[in-house]
Amino acid sequence: MLPSRTDFLIVGAGFAGLTLAERLCSAGFHCTLVDRRSHIGGNSHDEYDAHGVLIHSYGPHYFRTNSPQILEYLGRFTQWRPHVYKVQSWTDGRYWSFPVNLKTFEQLVGHRASEEEFAAWLEAERIPIDMPRNSEEVILSQMGRRLYELFFRGYTRKQWKLDPSELDASVCGRIPIRTDRNDAYLKEQFQCLPAEGYHVLFDNMKAACGERLSLVLGVDYRDLKDSVPHRHLFFTGAIDEFYKYRFGPLPYRSLRFEREYFSAGQLRERLPVSGKAGFWQPELQVNYPNDFEFTRIVEMKHATGQVCAGSTIVREYPADWELGQDPYYPVPSRESRALYERYRALADGEKDVTFLGRLGTYKYYNMDQVVAQALKVAEDTLAAHQPLI
Ligand SMILES: Cc1cc2nc3c(=O)[nH]c(=O)nc-3n(C[C@H](O)[C@H](O)[C@H](O)COP(=O)(O)OP(=O)(O)OC[C@H]3O[C@@H](n4cnc5c(N)ncnc54)[C@H](O)[C@@H]3O)c2cc1C
Repeated sequence: MLPSRTDFLIVGAGFAGLTLAERLCSAGFHCTLVDRRSHIGGNSHDEYDAHGVLIHSYGPHYFRTNSPQILEYLGRFTQWRPHVYKVQSWTDGRYWSFPVNLKTFEQLVGHRASEEEFAAWLEAERIPIDMPRNSEEVILSQMGRRLYELFFRGYTRKQWKLDPSELDASVCGRIPIRTDRNDAYLKEQFQCLPAEGYHVLFDNMKAACGERLSLVLGVDYRDLKDSVPHRHLFFTGAIDEFYKYRFGPLPYRSLRFEREYFSAGQLRERLPVSGKAGFWQPELQVNYPNDFEFTRIVEMKHATGQVCAGSTIVREYPADWELGQDPYYPVPSRESRALYERYRALADGEKDVTFLGRLGTYKYYNMDQVVAQALKVAEDTLAAHQPLI
């Protein structure tokens, strides 16, 4: 049932909306949180599939952060399961250690090598570019054309339907390169998953809001905004949609996921390939830069630590985005940033609406960054408002 009034109307029950709701409800405000999906958690939602395997519904979500504060805040709602995320790349008919490290180099040259040898090789391969202006230049200046063609160019073209030379330097700049044997996929200090899954973390955040939260699921905010009087609106959906695409739609990339379950018997037959009993592939994620139409296959069981006989893999196919579909990735290019700036100028003029979250600010934010942003918005809101009801 809809409340007759509320202090704050929050659109979107992802990390941004839930963090804001929890902070504001805990401070004595009444919040109405609306999401058009049938569940909370936004894109970070996870669930058990028909075979009882815990999977991430909208693509794998590797929690990582350098912020002890964010870890502590979310740690109020979950235990953590530390995990170092591991990735391999499948190209030229074999698995490669990835991101590029000394083991990758040894696979490339076919003999054991030292860090010095690899560093010298890289130095010779690198194309000197003082100020890389795009993703192609970033990779060429770090490791040269051979590794760029082997691991990056095809993947990026599939993912974004743009050549790396057309993409912001930040896109490929996120991937580390190391001359030692460290093959951890990510650089952040804390890498972990909610021990019982994201859905339990989100349920606990919701529970912490108590009775001051009215949660409305399966409803678009446009269908209730006029029936719930509110003091302020927080919008974590897409900013261009909010303004009815006045300047045209912002570009997004979409995704299609294909799940496949394998029984214990099938996994046993697969052992020569996976090298790990009970798994379909050798690591959590395998990238396919140059083969097939999908970009990667993820086998979440590697990271969740779930003990179950079978396993589910998810193939991820990048897709064009059309109005009405879920927008997944804001496209990080100069043109899209310029278009976003026009919407942001409108947003800056709003007194009663605040935009936040990945879609509200059209930023390629990770979960911890979104939580940090929502905590800051909550702090500012608490400084400016007193609870009325
Ligand atoms: C495939 C993929 C993989 C990712 N992997 C990682 C990762 O490994 N690590 C990491 O840290 N981050 C990852 N992310 C980023 C992560 O998903 C985001 O940081 C996080 O979900 C942002 O939370 P949010 O609340 O801003 O948005 P969302 O989670 O997108 O939530 C927004 C919610 O708003 C709702 N909504 C929108 N418009 C309306 C409306 N008009 N009415 C009602 N409801 C509405 C939507 O239904 C949605 O539930 C990944 C993202 C994707 C797409």
